[in-house]
Amino acid sequence: MDRKIIHLDVDAFFAAVEVKDNPKLKGKPVIVGGGSDRGVVCTCSYEARKYGVHSAMPGFMAKQKCPHGIFLPVRHWRYQEVSREIFRIFYDLTTKVEPLSIDEAYIDVTDIDESPLKIAHFIKAQIMEKTGLTISVGISYNKFLAKLASDWNKPDGIKIITRNMLPHILKPLPVNKVHGIGKKTSERLRKIGIFTIEELLQLPKEYFIEFFGNHGNEIYDIIRGIDHRQVKSTRETKSIGRETTLKEDTTNREYLRKYLAEFAKNISTSLNKKGILAKTVTVKIKTSDFEIHTKGRTIHHHIASYDQIYNLASDILDEINLEPGIRLIGLTVSNLSYNESQQLSFFDSL
Ligand SMILES: [Mg+2]
Repeated sequence: MDRKIIHLDVDAFFAAVEVKDNPKLKGKPVIVGGGSDRGVVCTCSYEARKYGVHSAMPGFMAKQKCPHGIFLPVRHWRYQEVSREIFRIFYDLTTKVEPLSIDEAYIDVTDIDESPLKIAHFIKAQIMEKTGLTISVGISYNKFLAKLASDWNKPDGIKIITRNMLPHILKPLPVNKVHGIGKKTSERLRKIGIFTIEELLQLPKEYFIEFFGNHGNEIYDIIRGIDHRQVKSTRETKSIGRETTLKEDTTNREYLRKYLAEFAKNISTSLNKKGILAKTVTVKIKTSDFEIHTKGRTIHHHIASYDQIYNLASDILDEINLEPGIRLIGLTVSNLSYNESQQLSFFDSL
């Protein structure tokens, strides 16, 4: 049986909250962030988008494009508050919720005995009633298509992509709509004359592996509407980790520490994004003779910050004998808990 996957994305979230809190701003070009010349735009209202302003744009540029724009400071705490209300609506329906950011999530409603369209309308109505905001909803049988659908007619959109719409619905889309094809890759594709999914569909499978490397198979499948990725409920996550095989075996502790620092940063971002705290930090190594050793430490309080994770990992590394030469280093946090008050504090990653 096909899965029922819904992708939800609040429209112009930060700006929408500002308008909601101050109705005088309604219909005006509201720009959150970017008020100082060195800052960047976080979100802007659709009215501001008409002038070409978009998120991540430097403030001075936004001012040039939209001189009469209303620039507001970023009120993180307030967006978190509203975000919690929105996610409560999702969690009331199912535990299969995968947050992607403060205002965006996948939910898997396969087990709910109701049409996904009805569920989507219900969610939209609930969000409107409780927060006054609009959300765009995409429904399909996998994550890629659901996300594509929610983007279809923003704002306040709702769109279903069914099996019989494929492949024709995908064909005219630009390649950067494909999950796994970013800016750089689209540019590489453009150089060889490939702009749309239709053109991509004509390439043989071997070419995908050659062109995209590890992701080749995945991208080959995804443009055919095949995507088996599960909706990963963060509440079922047991651990979060990163590891890498080194180019050369090493006994250099400082060199390894740099990797731990990078992993800690990565993991901390991930924890904060998902509103998770950890108690155990584990360092993993593989020696040049392929033996795997792990060493962990569990502390009494919960942590999520880069400093806390890195400092523990660094202490653990000091206790490990590097003599045989290390070929792989990894860092994992586990013993996770989902702190409601921490839930959805995405901002450490912004
Ligand atoms: Mg959004």
